[in-house]
Amino acid sequence: MSELDRDVDVVVLGMGPGGEHAAGSLAEAGLAVAAVEAHLVGGECPYWGCVPSKMMIRAADLVTEGRRIPGMAGRSEVTPDWAPVARRIRDEATDNWDDKVAADRFTGKGGILVRGHGRITAPGEVTVTPVPGRHGNAEPRLLRARKGIVLATGTTAAVPPIPGLAGTPFWTNHAAIETEQVPESLVVLGGGAVGSELAQVFARFGSRVSVAEGLSRLLPLEEPEAGNLLAGVFEREGITVRTGHPAARVTHSAAGGFTVTLDGGEDLTGEALLVATGRRADLPGLGVGVVGIDETLKAVPVDEHMRAAPGVWALGDVTGKGAFTHMSMYQAGIVIGDILGREHHGAEYHAVPRVTFTDPEVGGVGLTEAQARERGMQVRTATVPVPESARGWIHKAGNDGFIKLVEDCGRGVLAGATSAGPCGGEVLSALAVAVHAAVPVQRLREMIYAYPTFHRAIEAALDGLGPQARGCAPCDQARLPQAQA
Ligand SMILES: Cc1cc2nc3c(=O)[nH]c(=O)nc-3n(C[C@H](O)[C@H](O)[C@H](O)COP(=O)(O)OP(=O)(O)OC[C@H]3O[C@@H](n4cnc5c(N)ncnc54)[C@H](O)[C@@H]3O)c2cc1C
Repeated sequence: MSELDRDVDVVVLGMGPGGEHAAGSLAEAGLAVAAVEAHLVGGECPYWGCVPSKMMIRAADLVTEGRRIPGMAGRSEVTPDWAPVARRIRDEATDNWDDKVAADRFTGKGGILVRGHGRITAPGEVTVTPVPGRHGNAEPRLLRARKGIVLATGTTAAVPPIPGLAGTPFWTNHAAIETEQVPESLVVLGGGAVGSELAQVFARFGSRVSVAEGLSRLLPLEEPEAGNLLAGVFEREGITVRTGHPAARVTHSAAGGFTVTLDGGEDLTGEALLVATGRRADLPGLGVGVVGIDETLKAVPVDEHMRAAPGVWALGDVTGKGAFTHMSMYQAGIVIGDILGREHHGAEYHAVPRVTFTDPEVGGVGLTEAQARERGMQVRTATVPVPESARGWIHKAGNDGFIKLVEDCGRGVLAGATSAGPCGGEVLSALAVAVHAAVPVQRLREMIYAYPTFHRAIEAALDGLGPQARGCAPCDQARLPQAQA
């Protein structure tokens, strides 16, 4: 054992939001904690994910709001400038991609930070190898964990094996967030949350943007109405949207940029290409086979206490339960409770909230209609457009959206809901409470909804569900015409 090797209570692998929360809290509780980080303490969210992307979105929304002034509040001439956006990301969000503040925050709680790539090499044992080019010529180190190991290693951008793509200077979210320039034109591969958010940002800053989604609609994991709504808004804003045709080939030249050929033969061209086709966890790189976990899986399987194997916990994106910072923090809370032997609730996933911060914002919670039906629930749904709400009429512009409710008729509660529109993610909170706490739909009907808010559209959607369901049988027939809009 070298003098750098350590025996500790807990080794946390990966210091993204969940790993940082777990490692810091366990250290504050008095345990000896070693945290291993291969790159930056804080992980994807503050440096290349949630925080900087939302700064970009805030800027892009301001540009668009400014352009809505004519006809409502005077005259406006908006000249978008990327320089302040890039500067805010560099200086305010990421400290120029420097994690000193976060690292000091952890060591200030008594934790030991070990830089390098960690891998389980025996039960209760992690070997840390310095990352070439990042951690100099440091020696590998051995960490032994008396209580256990927490896997919080997240995911990285998945790059699909499209002929011609490998070896080209394509962007993932890292380069897109770090860019100092808006490309003259951009092809975005993938119309999920990340692809859609970034596509709209760059388009609003003047780039000619095309989005190619291989599945049949944008935001394929959300209600079909959400993807269709977004496609309409994108087309109106000048973004080319192509769905249902996966990319078949990519070519690149220094002079001509990128050409993405879709499987129908159409070419999309761009100075830059953003690959936003999902995320992947590296189970073989973590050595989880040593503790009996199948390394061919896409995610580390966990029970309700986030236990993955004896003496091993996992949390965050690597568990595949939802790639959100709030999920990682939620699961970290369970890990902390379990390791400290505190009474804690087991993980529940029936009311996972998710928000795509496009304009309109798309919030979803619980099951979509299709998921509820796949589970054999008898459901009825109602969908009401937001622009018809009083607030939508008052606002006049930028109100595209809808509320969709999915009722589990057997229980008389909402199984899921979608809130798309202005502040759709904020409006979602009321629906998230309803789904989480299984509030009876009848009780929701009896609530008072403030006038003239956007969330008042929830009341109209509840009306759209029809009269109180009695048992399952009448539900599907009880769908009102507007409920199927
Ligand atoms: C563009 C973009 C926008 C996003 N926006 C949102 C949003 O608005 N809201 C939201 O909730 N989520 C958002 N997300 C998702 C969010 O960033 C992730 O869900 C979150 O960061 C996951 O946290 P995590 O704790 O699993 O770890 P991660 O943040 O993935 O961090 C894992 C850390 O582990 C380290 N690591 C990996 N392997 C090893 C190893 N073997 N040894 C040592 N260290 C290792 C990595 O270097 C990394 O620092 C966004 C993601 C992207 C890409």
